[in-house]
Amino acid sequence: GREEISSPRRTKEIIAAHGFSFKKSLGQNFLIDQNILNKIVDAAGLDKSTGALEIGPGIGALTERLAQTAGAVTAVEIDQRLIPILQEVLSPYPHVKIRHADVLNVDLHELFGEDFAEVGKVSVVANLPYYVTTPILMKLLEEKLPLANIVVMIQKEVAERMAASPGGKDYGSLSIAVQYYSEPELICTVPHTVFIPQPNVESAVIRLKVRERPPVEVRDEQHFFEVVRASFTQRRKTISNNLKSRFFPGEGRERLEALLSEAGIQPSRRGETLSLAEYARLSDVLLAAGI
Ligand code: SAM
Repeated sequence: GREEISSPRRTKEIIAAHGFSFKKSLGQNFLIDQNILNKIVDAAGLDKSTGALEIGPGIGALTERLAQTAGAVTAVEIDQRLIPILQEVLSPYPHVKIRHADVLNVDLHELFGEDFAEVGKVSVVANLPYYVTTPILMKLLEEKLPLANIVVMIQKEVAERMAASPGGKDYGSLSIAVQYYSEPELICTVPHTVFIPQPNVESAVIRLKVRERPPVEVRDEQHFFEVVRASFTQRRKTISNNLKSRFFPGEGRERLEALLSEAGIQPSRRGETLSLAEYARLSDVLLAAGI
């Protein structure tokens, strides 16, 4: 057969044959490294009974690997210019479906019903466009799709924030949101040289093992996330100061501090030291007090 799509030579050939030019605004950095592709696909743990959803297939480097491993593959690509290229280079793989769309506008439950009815578990596997990493991952997690895991290449700094534990400088509302829905695990860091063109930031592969149910129970998820965001408004301020400006403006501190102590939290602590369980308790206590 032919050389793999991801080989540097074939990638250049495909790009030249179609007169394709990279759009930086769409985060187009294509993978040309077999080792990294192997690591990504291995981390997802796919087999013929599973499905793979890829976001941003580019010219199909990763899509081809997914096609060789999974039973059903759907790739959602925003750039119209790539659609005919993908259809051509992936024509040997009839179980691959290319969809032209902005993934942020796709009804994913409908997509799952149409494309993955025949397979068991589904993984999201992608080398994500870095300008929309967080909105894409939050959409995947918040919509509570029947996902086994999400394996993605993202900016290294964002991966570290997602996987951070309480107490460190990387821990924030993104860590809490991601960890509420999944168990994150850094798979590897990735050098610039595996992409064309090379991005300006460092990259990493992260796996989010999607949870069957959240690790803490909260009475109101929206409220919980609002309390978390408010607690990090100004990182250097105490939890008491941050919550006061958001929920108790123009009031004395007595009621807030009584509620914090009811939740077992010292008012002098900073938001970055609280665990998920502590945020859950705090949110429930505030909610019960009508806040
Ligand atoms: N998967 C390919 C690879 O690894 O070589 C390309 C990865 S490249 C980092 C990101 C891809 O996402 C590009 O093909 C880009 O056009 C596409 N993309 C950017 N924004 C998108 C969006 N909102 N929805 C779907 N695809 C998007």
